[in-house]
Amino acid sequence: MNTAEHSSANDLVDMELHCVTCGARLYLSVPQAEAVIASLERTGAAILICICGQAQLIRRKLYKRHA
Ligand SMILES: [Zn+2]
Repeated sequence: MNTAEHSSANDLVDMELHCVTCGARLYLSVPQAEAVIASLERTGAAILICICGQAQLIRRKLYKRHA
């Protein structure tokens, strides 16, 4: 139990995506975002789940940082 770390766990990462069903902006907690980005880097795709329950397939091209 290290309460000093709780603040970063509460941060949300803006995925710069909108749900195709409800149009909500998609945000993830830092651990979730790290898992999604790791999946993108390993497999080229990842799944996000909107607050409405709609699954969103995202692909690595959205995160391309180098030519
Ligand atoms: Zn939604």
